[in-house]
Amino acid sequence: MHKNFKGIEKTVFGRGSFSQLGDILAERRGDNAKFMVFLVDQYFKGKPLEKQIPAKPEDVVMFIDVDTHEPTTEQIDSIRDSILKTKGLPAGVVGIGGGSIMDIAKASSLMFTNEGSSTLYQGLNLIKKPGIYHVGVPTISGTGAEVSMTAVLTGPEKKLGLKCEWTVFNQVVLDPDLIASVPRNWWFYTGMDTYIHCIESENGTLNNAYSHAYAEQALKLCREVYLGDKSGQTPDNDDKLMVASLMGGLSLTYSEVGVCHALSYGLSKILGTRHCYANCIAFNHLEDFYADGVKEFKTMIKKHNIDLPQGLAKEWTDDQITKMAHVAYNLPHMWNHAIGTDWKEKITIDKIKDLYKRL
Ligand code: NAD
Ligand code: ZN
Repeated sequence: MHKNFKGIEKTVFGRGSFSQLGDILAERRGDNAKFMVFLVDQYFKGKPLEKQIPAKPEDVVMFIDVDTHEPTTEQIDSIRDSILKTKGLPAGVVGIGGGSIMDIAKASSLMFTNEGSSTLYQGLNLIKKPGIYHVGVPTISGTGAEVSMTAVLTGPEKKLGLKCEWTVFNQVVLDPDLIASVPRNWWFYTGMDTYIHCIESENGTLNNAYSHAYAEQALKLCREVYLGDKSGQTPDNDDKLMVASLMGGLSLTYSEVGVCHALSYGLSKILGTRHCYANCIAFNHLEDFYADGVKEFKTMIKKHNIDLPQGLAKEWTDDQITKMAHVAYNLPHMWNHAIGTDWKEKITIDKIKDLYKRL
C-alpha cells in the first residue's frame, strides 16, 4: 500500500506575513462558540509580537512556558477542559511558537472534539472525530512540526504522537521575521533537526523519488544556512531555514527517521532531554550509520562554535541506559527503515546500550 497523506490546506510565506493573520481568521470566527484560542510561547509575553496578535475581546490568549518540559498529555487535557468549561467550543486554535507550541496547538484542536484523556489517542489513527480549525505560526524552524501529521506528546507511559489526517494544520503562516530572535544555540539545534530528518530520510529503505526530492532541496538550503559563505542568522537565511524545515518535514511524510531519532526518543523519555538537542548529542556519534552526514555535522558544529557536551553517559546508571535502550528498541518503524526488515538480527538491546554509552 502506498501512503495517502494529507497536506496543509493553506500556506502563507513571506516576511511580515504575520500581519495577515487577522484577515485569515476573520473567515472562521463565526464557527462554534465564536471565539479563537491563541496558544503562544511564553517567550513572546511582553515582546512586540504580543501587541500584534489579532485577538478580539472574546478570544482566549494563553502564554505557555515550553522550557520546563516537552508537551504532555496532561497539559493538553487541562487546556481543553478549562476552555470547554468556561467558554465552550472555540472556533479555532492558533499556535504561535516553536515545535512545542505547534504540537500543543495540533493536539488541542483534536482533543476539543474527542472525549477522554489524550493518552487514549497516542498512536496512529486512534482519533475518532476531526478536530477544530487550527493554524500554525512557527517562530523557530527545524522540527517540521508545522507540516507533519503528528502532535508528539509525552504521557505517563509513552512519548508518542496523536497521528492522523486531522492533525495537519488547516493553515500555516510562515513569516521568517518571527525566527530572527531565536538564540544561536537553539537556532543550531532546531535547524539540525531538519538536517538530521533529511539524512535519515535519505538513508533507509523507504527513501524514494518523492522523499528524496524534498530532502535534497532541504539539505541544499541547510548547507547554505550553516556552511555557505553567507552562513549564519541573517534575514535571507531565515527565509531559507523556514522553507528547509517545511521540506524536511515533507520528505519524512513519505519516508522515515532512523537511528538518531530512535536514540533521541530514549533520551527525551527517560532523561527529559529536549528533542533537537538530544538529536545533536546522539547524531555526533553515529558515524557507523551516517558517515558523510556526521562528518558534515561536525564541520557545522565547529563553524558555529556550538557547545555540544560529550562523555554524558559516564553520569548515567545502567538502569537508565537500559530503559533508554528499551524506548529506542520499541520504535520498529525507525529501525525497519534505517537497517532493513531484518533489523532484529542486527540490532539488540545490548547494541543500543552500547550506542548510548558512546554519548
Ligand atoms: P521549542 O518550541 O521547544 O522552543 C525552544 C526554545 O526556543 C524555547 O525556549 C522557546 O521559548 C524558544 N523560542 C521559540 N521561538 C523563539 C523566538 N522566535 N525567539 C526566541 N526564542 C524562541 O523548540 P523546537 O525545537 O522547535 O520544538 C521541540 C519540540 O518539537 C519537541 O517537543 C518535539 O517533540 C517536537 N517535535 C515535533 C515534531 C512533529 O512532527 N510534530 C517533530 C520534531 C519535534
Ligand atoms: Zn526530529
